[in-house]
Amino acid sequence: MRDGILVINAGSSSIKFSLYISDGDDKPLLSCKGQVEGINVAPHFIAKAPHGGVLNEQRWPDQPNLSHSALFKYMIQWIEAQLGDAELKAAGHRVVHGGSLYSQPLLINDDLMAELETLVPLAPLHQPHNLAPIKALKEVHPELLQVACFDTAFHRSNPWTAQSFALPRKITGEGVKRYGFHGLSYEYIARQLRQIAPAVARGRVVVCHLGSGASMCAIHEGKSIASTMGFTALDGLPMGTRTGTLDAGVVLYLLQQKGMTAKEIEDMLYKQSGLIGVSGVSNDMRVLLESSEPHATEAVELFVYRISRELGSLAAAMGGIDALVFTAGIGEHSPQVRERVCKHAEWLGVEMDDEANQRGAQMISTMESPVSVWVVPTDEEMMIAKHTREVLQSVKVA
Ligand code: ADP
Repeated sequence: MRDGILVINAGSSSIKFSLYISDGDDKPLLSCKGQVEGINVAPHFIAKAPHGGVLNEQRWPDQPNLSHSALFKYMIQWIEAQLGDAELKAAGHRVVHGGSLYSQPLLINDDLMAELETLVPLAPLHQPHNLAPIKALKEVHPELLQVACFDTAFHRSNPWTAQSFALPRKITGEGVKRYGFHGLSYEYIARQLRQIAPAVARGRVVVCHLGSGASMCAIHEGKSIASTMGFTALDGLPMGTRTGTLDAGVVLYLLQQKGMTAKEIEDMLYKQSGLIGVSGVSNDMRVLLESSEPHATEAVELFVYRISRELGSLAAAMGGIDALVFTAGIGEHSPQVRERVCKHAEWLGVEMDDEANQRGAQMISTMESPVSVWVVPTDEEMMIAKHTREVLQSVKVA
């Protein structure tokens, strides 16, 4: 019998799922994917086949406040009906925070859940939503093996200096440090690079994960050395709606001089800043690139400038750079942004092949370029599925 592996990625207003079927040795095969979105507003379930065709869609116009758990149960029932001759063997969850300790995916038990609950204050906007489906699934399937895959885990190989803030020990001792995020994406890219270009994978690589959330990571010999996100996923690059790096003095100014509440500041930094804040037009890079509004142009300019600055910083953390990788929505699909970033990086030895970039080739630098440049699509769900299958196999062997 084939194994069904369910991957869950839950946020505050949506629960995304992907169902994989695994035969054993080959990579898990995507069977279907989908999400419940608009939770607490206008819930909407949609499921699609791997090639994108809609398999099922459901709305609840009379029940806008239908609970998370009721929607989750609907989703699980639908998924189970798709298993065919496979048996649901395990569920892998994206858990944003694994704290200082967890550098690997882990089999979930009551002790681990209690530990993960203690990390909620470090990621109050994400962690509770990541943990809720684990509990909901346990209610429906108490025996199902569940695995937590942490977005912070890949960065635990960072040296002490890259993880530290120059704050008093009293505070840093409580866990106020740089954790880094998007780790599942970076780990996936590091594994892909081993297949695509093994020599490159052994070198010093900077990966730019440019999606609606954006960050960059310095990877040396397959291990994370430094990244742009820090204590929270607010740090580093400007994103669709988040500020990125901000002088902490600005927060004090907003509090003390503008009399803003913590909640108002949180909203401003997470939801009203970044590309939308600077442009006043959109948080979508496609719209900004097509807009003739001066503020839209400036938003793109600032985005590229900050990527370029961080690139220098991450190269410095590794003592140089051998390769640059673009991934996620903007990184995979925008030749224009890639071109502009590469132009700024000529001083580092980046020589872009314009034709290859426009064509969307895998390698987009010239053959002579001292630093090779790559476009590698990310797949965080596949990374979770692989981890979950590895844990499942280790349990079977034990
Ligand atoms: P998420 O972080 O939500 O997973 P994605 O990695 O899917 O985001 O990236 C979403 C972003 O990618 C969108 O906001 C959009 O700005 C950008 N994007 C997608 N396609 C293109 C494109 N062809 N050109 C420029 N930007 C694009």
